[in-house]
Amino acid sequence: YYGESTVLYFNGAFMNAADAKIDLYSQSLHYGYAVFEGIRSYQTANGTKIFKAKEHYDRLRYSAEVMGIPFSVSTQELTDLTYELLERNSFTNAYIRPVVLCSPNMSLSKGKESYLAITAWEWTNGYLSNQMRIMTSSYRRPNPSGFKINAKVSGHYVNSILACQEAKDNGFDEALLLDIEGNVAEGPGANVFFEKDGVLYTPAAGNILPGITRATVLDLCEILGIPVVEKKFKPEEMRGADSAFYCGTAAEVVALESMDNIPFAQPWENSLGSELQKAYKNCVLEKEYTAETINN
Ligand code: PMP
Repeated sequence: YYGESTVLYFNGAFMNAADAKIDLYSQSLHYGYAVFEGIRSYQTANGTKIFKAKEHYDRLRYSAEVMGIPFSVSTQELTDLTYELLERNSFTNAYIRPVVLCSPNMSLSKGKESYLAITAWEWTNGYLSNQMRIMTSSYRRPNPSGFKINAKVSGHYVNSILACQEAKDNGFDEALLLDIEGNVAEGPGANVFFEKDGVLYTPAAGNILPGITRATVLDLCEILGIPVVEKKFKPEEMRGADSAFYCGTAAEVVALESMDNIPFAQPWENSLGSELQKAYKNCVLEKEYTAETINN
């Protein structure tokens, strides 16, 4: 992720990545009590642009707030720091990972002080394959009565790691997690949509991380006139649907080939997801994305 000359931002200063040190007595390390974001920048015709910087940094601030982590850097300051970081590293297409860490404190009381780190690395290709085979996980997403699941909290990702590991151990590419009630929730790091009879369905907010990509996809559906329904549904309803996809900042819009070894019926090229995949690409690259320009 970093080389000899990589620069990161930590606790008020830009520094060489290898020189940054965190305290082993940090609450964040012992308890997963930290909040973070996953953001991307793209080389567009208008220069290097961070996609949805405001939405990501507003969510970072929200995550810190609901977790009781003191954090007062504004969205504008965070955005400016990130552009400076990209420039200092000469990154264009980058993955950006800000994290708000808590200071040394071994108690379970809320954070007294926080440190902001912003790391980034040049990253063009998605980490996911072109078409993914997913399995319904035996792990459920964290119970919303026990966690702030609207927030992007480091500790929640232990659940994601377990689910991902189980899927890989069973020969699948990725997991699909249900919520505590047994409804489809999301992937370990992405939201999910499926298509049936010309309509898209996606889990309603409440038991999922409401993704920024998901919101963008919903906006694109409106522009493109694609009907979409947010509702609760069981895995049986999704299994064997016409098509399906995951979406997230890292994954963008990525096709699902099969679920629990049952293929989605339609070829991906003919799916609504494929249309949205192109539209999303145009969107991050700041190309026009009207119904007319979508296939150019
Ligand atoms: N769900 C989970 C659990 C995630 O980790 C992510 C990635 N942040 C998403 C959904 C998608 O969110 P976004 O589109 O904001 O990246």
